[in-house]
Amino acid sequence: MALRDEATRIAGEIAELRHAIHREPEIGLDLPKTQDKVLTALEGLPLEISLGRGLSSVTAVLRGGRPGPVVLLRGDMDALPVTEETDLPYASAIRGAMHACGHDLHTAMLAGAARLLSARQPELPGTVIFMFQPGEEGYAGAKRMISEGVLDAAGERPVAAYALHVSSSRLPCGMFSTRGGAMLAAADQITVTVRGRGGHASMPHRAADPIPAACEMVTALQTLVTRKFDVFDPVVITVGSFHAGTVDNVIPDEARFLATARSFSRESRDALAELVPQLIGDIARAHGLTAEAEYSREYPVTVNDAGEAAFAGETVAEVFGAGRGEAAEFPITGAEDFSFVLEEVPGAFLMLGACPPGQDPETAPTNHSAVAVFDDAALADGTALYAELALRRLARG
Ligand SMILES: [Zn+2]
Ligand SMILES: [Zn+2]
Repeated sequence: MALRDEATRIAGEIAELRHAIHREPEIGLDLPKTQDKVLTALEGLPLEISLGRGLSSVTAVLRGGRPGPVVLLRGDMDALPVTEETDLPYASAIRGAMHACGHDLHTAMLAGAARLLSARQPELPGTVIFMFQPGEEGYAGAKRMISEGVLDAAGERPVAAYALHVSSSRLPCGMFSTRGGAMLAAADQITVTVRGRGGHASMPHRAADPIPAACEMVTALQTLVTRKFDVFDPVVITVGSFHAGTVDNVIPDEARFLATARSFSRESRDALAELVPQLIGDIARAHGLTAEAEYSREYPVTVNDAGEAAFAGETVAEVFGAGRGEAAEFPITGAEDFSFVLEEVPGAFLMLGACPPGQDPETAPTNHSAVAVFDDAALADGTALYAELALRRLARG
């Protein structure tokens, strides 16, 4: 039987696991209940399992009966601090936590793929590492798993690594999307504190008002984006938090803001890290103020290997038909900590449409929304693709 048919046969059980994880979402690096559910799903399979020390990860190694290389498959497991507002029968039972990014699907699909590949263990030409990862949403769980040795779990480094990510919007259900080169942005955080001298709002000349200078910084950052960066190597800066003062007639001592910076190349990222603090400092000085601007590097650019992305695209076309895959024209401005894996191992990150029936992908709620819905119909094909990518890549040697 083809892997795709086998995945369809166990789709009900994959959906059950997904629903159980969805009902009890956990946030961050410590996901003991999710880890338990994964371990139960993997029970009885011929896997070498090791658990994370500093995080509740699960690393499962499947050694095939025939010699060959190592391939890594990754599924992230963490939820978001969002209170679910869907009326799904398996909606989150926990206020303030929701699988709003679909990581419950990734976990269930990866467990399904482990089952399908385990059934073929005797003829499998090589080794598969299943990387069940906590803490994707801002905790750099992938980086921690790398430092705990996930890439060496099989004794030798993988020749390729793959990850799938579902989307509740944009892509029609069942559509796969990837591209060679930059797939997702680097995401960094800018933290700015502008220090002045508070006073009476009616006599600003006797104070040092940080608010106009901070406002100038916000707009100057947008000018920086358009004047210092190549339009074909774009960057995005968005100030998402801005705080100063308390009432209308008091000039505060300081103003603070936070911004996210997205970029798609090492050069642009390095330029941002240098130019942003410089611009902030210069504007503060121009107004007789001081400012601290901290540029903190979070997730690097997710760069797909051109050959591995092409291989993944061909695999989609061969398994599901040419109409089921698209070569994404542009990268996504979101970010992913699978980027840390792809800095070490060539591979590909693919998106998979999971927009529910009856919804227009263009207007459906996006990932991270409290009303985002991911359709179970994507589960069997996501499971099959994980397994096919591993099997075919091992067969290539
Ligand atoms: Zn997310
Ligand atoms: Zn995600």
